[in-house]
Amino acid sequence: MNTLIIGKPYIRQLHNKSRLSANIRWPAGSRTIWFEVDSDYEPYLCTERIDAFLVSLLPFAMLENCSIRSEGSLSERLSYQISTVLLPSLTGNIRRFHPVSIDAPSDGTVLASARAVATGLSCGVDSFYTALNHIDTPTKSFDLTHVTYFNIMNHMMWQAYGEDSSRDFSNARINYVRPAANELGLRLVAIDTNSDAFYHGHSLQTTFPFRYLGTVLALQKLFGTYYWSSGYSFSQFAFTIDDLATCDLLTVQCLSNENTAFYSTGAAVTRLDKTDYISAFPVTHKYLNVCWNNLYNCTDNCDKCKRTLLGLYALGKIDLYRDVFDLDKFYRNIDQYLKYMLFMWTRETHQGWYGEIYKRLAERGIRVPESRRQQLRWRLEHVTERIAEECGLLWREGARP
Ligand SMILES: [Zn+2]
Repeated sequence: MNTLIIGKPYIRQLHNKSRLSANIRWPAGSRTIWFEVDSDYEPYLCTERIDAFLVSLLPFAMLENCSIRSEGSLSERLSYQISTVLLPSLTGNIRRFHPVSIDAPSDGTVLASARAVATGLSCGVDSFYTALNHIDTPTKSFDLTHVTYFNIMNHMMWQAYGEDSSRDFSNARINYVRPAANELGLRLVAIDTNSDAFYHGHSLQTTFPFRYLGTVLALQKLFGTYYWSSGYSFSQFAFTIDDLATCDLLTVQCLSNENTAFYSTGAAVTRLDKTDYISAFPVTHKYLNVCWNNLYNCTDNCDKCKRTLLGLYALGKIDLYRDVFDLDKFYRNIDQYLKYMLFMWTRETHQGWYGEIYKRLAERGIRVPESRRQQLRWRLEHVTERIAEECGLLWREGARP
């Protein structure tokens, strides 16, 4: 087993920015990992703990079969929860993850904190739902004070363009999110990081929750409470390397420490319910931006745009979003969107996103331009395809079951 060594965190100042940094060494190389904020936030960067670095690097250690050693301190609560609950759960249920031993002193001291309450705001459905649900609530100490945006994309589409390509995208998105944060009356904290560098060649979904929550812990002296917007419902809890967000209920519990408490929010309702909820707020009519492929909503070129438009259409709310989608294009091609919905509904396994859109359309008496016979044929093919996969047989599209 290899050893990954995390150096003691330190702060480096660059013009009007400040970086929380740590030197990382492992047998194949060395690199400085950093988290960068505007200098105003420098007092909140946490040099007293290695938490941000260790959490961000845990998927790397599990995938590459590394133990972790550091002379810097790990939060005591984090040390206990990671070693006794989180790592055994993940490595016991996901074959590609190796057990990780951690050799670092622990410290249970509570640090001085601004006790801010925050969540990420991308202006998508899940993040708008969390933000709008935590403003002016009866539980005042849980009301949002800040929203965040992190540059931790690490998507294959960015890796092809070089190490800094996602930074340009993130900076443009930050400019888009800022006026929405202002309208909500919340301060925006942007954090840049180069933690991507460890994960080239690895799937975003396999590493994202750890790198995201690790980035929050870089500012654990600012954030007392942080909401993680769940993309899944509680009933969809699962251990899968394809998407670690499916076990976020466990992850947020185990990665909370003496200074920052994480909560998974939005998992009690479906995505269509969230879409319905946020549509009542005019700020979403101006800023909803769900696109996976482009800076702004593409309308017809990615699954997230198509799914969101179909959901808004099923709810009868689509015309509120004329400023952020090309609705003329949607209405011109509506049959294609509905056929896409049926296709995805028959293909999808556990998310249920398209099933609930179809059900809502049926409840509202909106006709879907495909025969029942066609739907049944797709379902039959889908089931046959899965059986063929499980039996190690080759399934040919269009073949008779
Ligand atoms: Zn799109």
